[in-house]
Amino acid sequence: MPKGAWQVSQLGIGEWQRQALERDKADPLASFRPEFYRPETGIYLDGNSLGLVSRRAESSLLAALDAWRRLGVGGWEAGDPSWFYLAETLGQMLTPLVGGQAGDLVLAGSTTVNLHQLIATFYHPEGSRRLIVADPLNFPSDLYALQSQLTLHGQDASALCLVPVGPDGLIDESDLLALFGPEVALVLLPSVLFRTGQLLDMARITERARELGIPIGWDLSHSAGVVPHRLDQLDPDFAVFCTYKYLNGGPGAPAALYLSPRHRHRQPALWGWFGGDKAHQFDMSPSFTPATGAGAFQIGSPHILSMAPLKGSLELLTEAGIERVRAKSLAVTGFLIDLADDLLAPLGVSVATPRAEARRGGHVALRHPKAVQLVPALKAAGVVVDSRPPDIVRLCPSPLSNGFADVLEAVLRLKAAIEALGW
Ligand SMILES: *Cc1c(COP(=O)(O)O)cnc(C)c1O
Repeated sequence: MPKGAWQVSQLGIGEWQRQALERDKADPLASFRPEFYRPETGIYLDGNSLGLVSRRAESSLLAALDAWRRLGVGGWEAGDPSWFYLAETLGQMLTPLVGGQAGDLVLAGSTTVNLHQLIATFYHPEGSRRLIVADPLNFPSDLYALQSQLTLHGQDASALCLVPVGPDGLIDESDLLALFGPEVALVLLPSVLFRTGQLLDMARITERARELGIPIGWDLSHSAGVVPHRLDQLDPDFAVFCTYKYLNGGPGAPAALYLSPRHRHRQPALWGWFGGDKAHQFDMSPSFTPATGAGAFQIGSPHILSMAPLKGSLELLTEAGIERVRAKSLAVTGFLIDLADDLLAPLGVSVATPRAEARRGGHVALRHPKAVQLVPALKAAGVVVDSRPPDIVRLCPSPLSNGFADVLEAVLRLKAAIEALGW
């Protein structure tokens, strides 16, 4: 079709509108939508960067503030929940979403700091067994942590073994497994790649690493809260994830750290008083007695006010049920992909996310040569999305706060923005 020619939908906009209405009406999670504040910036499809605030998260934050006001230092003991155990309490509240048992998960620091702690603990290069297998598409902070840890361990860049990426921007799991061998001392991968939204076959990869005795860690930042995980069944050595994306913990909310129960008595590499055995923490002894489990991997004081919204947010997610959240996410992202095929493909847009449900996370990546310019154009049109250069626009319908009609409206405005830019 020649450039600029009149584009018509195969299905017709009216039919898409009818479908969106019908699917919103049948959505079993529709009752959760009024729980969220809708931002004044417009239709919000950026929950994979920063999830929205719910009324429940707002009240658990205000409760923590109130405990500080009423109790002062007493909040460490008498806060509800007690601040002293808040990182562990919230870790336990994550188990219905990601698996594991009490004691396997804790809230601490940021994803990157937790990665430093875990890489320092699990990476022990010895002779030719010194490689770290990772992927070049991982979030840059993860790659920075790996590179600086290699330097700290007396290694150079040749120890970082990056899997090749296909011309479609995706990773073939067989290429990853081909790198696993006796020289590999650690594997660190993201569950979902932040650009394309590809979900890796975590079971296959973890199983192979475990067979070969290679320590493996996962970064679940782009899947926790939207893709169900069973860390207890998968049994990687460790995992980390941030809580401000699909877990709606708020900007800069502390990250989560998972430690396999196989390592419950392992000494962390980096010590601090909040990683200590709680029964003796206030003995103020100069010698360190670590807690058992993930708790030992904390370093300094937990960020109480930054963690507080998570309590409300995790209650909401648990009530919704992670399986229903995933079902809605797949339905609404599938609807988005169908819309893109029908309405946007004639304008030079292609879908970068794998189409198979088992291979995609919670967002959809669309490719267009003018991706970066489209984001401000869409913002002006009241739709919040983001881009990742050079050519990706990411759209993330959050299962609890977005409906099908939001997605249709965003696609129609995206279509208009591309037409206005002169594709
Ligand atoms: C969002 C994200 C991070 C963020 O790291 P912080 O240290 O918590 O800011 C790290 N890794 C991945 C894969 C992410 O998606």
